[in-house]
Amino acid sequence: MQVKNISKRLGKVASFVPQGAKILDVGSDHAYLPIYLMQQRRIVSAIAGEVVDGPYQSAVANVSDNELSDKISVRLANGLAAFDEKDQIDVIIIAGMGGRLIADILANGSAKLASVKRLILQPNNRADELRRWLCGHDFQIIEETLVEENGKFYEIIIAEQGKQVLNADQERFGPYLMRKQSAIFQDRWQREADKLEKALAKIPMKNLAERSAISQKINQIKEVLHAGE
Ligand code: SAM
Repeated sequence: MQVKNISKRLGKVASFVPQGAKILDVGSDHAYLPIYLMQQRRIVSAIAGEVVDGPYQSAVANVSDNELSDKISVRLANGLAAFDEKDQIDVIIIAGMGGRLIADILANGSAKLASVKRLILQPNNRADELRRWLCGHDFQIIEETLVEENGKFYEIIIAEQGKQVLNADQERFGPYLMRKQSAIFQDRWQREADKLEKALAKIPMKNLAERSAISQKINQIKEVLHAGE
């Protein structure tokens, strides 16, 4: 099976991989991303790490079908246990999982991160927790982007070694995303505000604490969106 085309989301993730990189793709599922990057001649080698046997077998089969077994090593492993020093991995990609799980995977293998130049992370949710983890563990966010595909929004966070302090707004909305205020960013957060307004309307007036928590979230969104006007 040829992987000439991948999803818009994974294509955007791929666009942040530097030319000549040696990558580890954690949670590689069908190994679509490493195969695509190799077919594009973007990378020199890859490890496709997968912790579940079914997706691992599927990754092995796809890599073999594409005659890339000498360049892409598919490993059944949990998180960063998929590589060691001799693999000389300089870019780690973790996409399509919750932000908390991505942070846990990084935390569990943090001793191995010192030699890694770049992290390309695509959390499906809880991006704020992931940003907090990165900035608390000597990583700085150097770029961010937002992709919409099939009605869903996906944040992509690029981090490299360094120091960075983020405030609560930057953790929630992303320091680069909130500064750029792209149309897709505004659309995403306007939809979220609308959703919260609807939820608020259904909460009885007597539930003060619950109403106040939702109102605060709505106000935070409105302030960030107005800051871009
Ligand atoms: N990365 C692909 C993408 O973005 O399309 C696949 C995403 S899929 C939703 C998540 C994959 O990560 C699953 O195949 C799951 O088994 C795998 N996974 C979850 N936790 C993992 C871990 N700790 N180590 C390796 N793989 C993991």
